[in-house]
Amino acid sequence: MSETYLIALGSNRRHGEHGAPREVVRAAMEELSALGTVTKRSPVIESAPIGPAQRRFANAAAELESDLPPPNLLRELKRQERSFGRRRGQAWGDRVLDLDIVLWSGRAWQEGGLTIPHPHFRDRGFVLGPASAISPTWRDPCTGMTLRHLQARLTRPRGNRRDAPWLDP
Ligand code: AMP
Repeated sequence: MSETYLIALGSNRRHGEHGAPREVVRAAMEELSALGTVTKRSPVIESAPIGPAQRRFANAAAELESDLPPPNLLRELKRQERSFGRRRGQAWGDRVLDLDIVLWSGRAWQEGGLTIPHPHFRDRGFVLGPASAISPTWRDPCTGMTLRHLQARLTRPRGNRRDAPWLDP
C-alpha cells in the first residue's frame, strides 16, 4: 500500500441497523477496510455537540494504508457517508456519519476542494484526542508539531497558548 492516512470518524445520530452513534463509528471503522488496511484504531470517545448540532457525538480515529490517492479516497469516504444515510447540505448539523482525512503520508494536498491536513483539526479535541492516542509521533507538516504536542497545547490552560496562533486568543 503506497499511502498512509489518518482518518477521523464522527456520528451523532442513530442508525436503523447499527444503533447508537458509537456503534455507527465502530461499524464505519470496519467499512474502512474496503479501502485498504486499517492498521490502527482508537477507542470511541464521546464529545459535546458543536454548532447547531443537538446531540452528543461519538468520535474515533483510524490509520488506513491504501493505494488510493487523496481525491479518490475522499470520493470513497463520501460514498460511505451516504451509505450510512448522510444527506448533502447537512454541514455541522446532526449527522449519521462524518469521515474526514486529517493527515496523509504525502504530507499536504490542496486541490479540488480537498485540503490535507484537514484545516480545523488542530483546534478540535474530539479529533486530536483519538488521533494522538494512536499516532502520537505523526507530525503535522504545516506546524512541524507532533499530534501529541498539538493535543497537549489544546488541553493546556488558555493563558499558555501564545505559541499556538491557530487557537482562539
Ligand atoms: P464535511 O462537513 O466534513 O462533510 O466536509 C464537507 C466537505 O469538505 C467535503 O465534501 C470535502 O469536499 C471538503 N473537504 C476538504 N478537505 C477535507 C478533508 N481533509 N477531509 C474531508 N473533507 C474535506
